[in-house]
Amino acid sequence: MENEPDKNLKQILVVEDEPAIAENIAFAVGTENMVPLVVATAGEAWEILKARPVDLMVLDVGLPDENGFDFCRRVRTISNVPIIFLTARQAEIDRIVGLELGADDYVTKPFSPRELTARIRAILRRSGTSVPAATTSEPEPLFLVDHSRKAISYEGQPLNLSRYEFRMLELMVRHPGQVFSRDQLMDHAWEEPDASYDRTVDTHIKTLRAKLRKINPKSDCLQTRRGWGYCLKECP
Ligand code: CA
Repeated sequence: MENEPDKNLKQILVVEDEPAIAENIAFAVGTENMVPLVVATAGEAWEILKARPVDLMVLDVGLPDENGFDFCRRVRTISNVPIIFLTARQAEIDRIVGLELGADDYVTKPFSPRELTARIRAILRRSGTSVPAATTSEPEPLFLVDHSRKAISYEGQPLNLSRYEFRMLELMVRHPGQVFSRDQLMDHAWEEPDASYDRTVDTHIKTLRAKLRKINPKSDCLQTRRGWGYCLKECP
């Protein structure tokens, strides 16, 4: 019998057919006190899921043998394992966010391994299976987006957001430091942007800011760039 795997270490199933990306993920997961199990096809992942419990699955949408969405549905018939999608295309993101696929989160390519491991940790924490902190681990991100629940937490506390507020904040959280014009925010958040006026964005930003300050009165994350628009300050 080989050495028993350490039961305290979380097993992360990585389903990705691009070797360079898979290697990057495996390395990042390994340095965060978790054990990566890397496979390149849905077929191999299916065999693992049937044979043994894993704590979370990172699932590429574009796999050689089966579409990641179809595979996710199939997995949901046998397992509630948390799933993070890897995706490269806006159309795929819309499907993940719009349909009830049972995904817990998604990460868009290209992504930083650290971003991915932060999300893995967040999901494991939420599902009550926390990971012992690695000595090099970063502080938790200020904002955590939960796409399946359409919810965002700030400093660990849930924000009670309207649909527009969620969409605007989610966009800015994904691109910290990037300045968004009112038009860009409106295009992203409103179904019929033309039906509204600029001022509406200002109003929603104002309520968003108030909600952040309810949690932290000194919050200055959400910044106004006069003449340009708004951005989320890159937090330390
Ligand atoms: Ca792929």
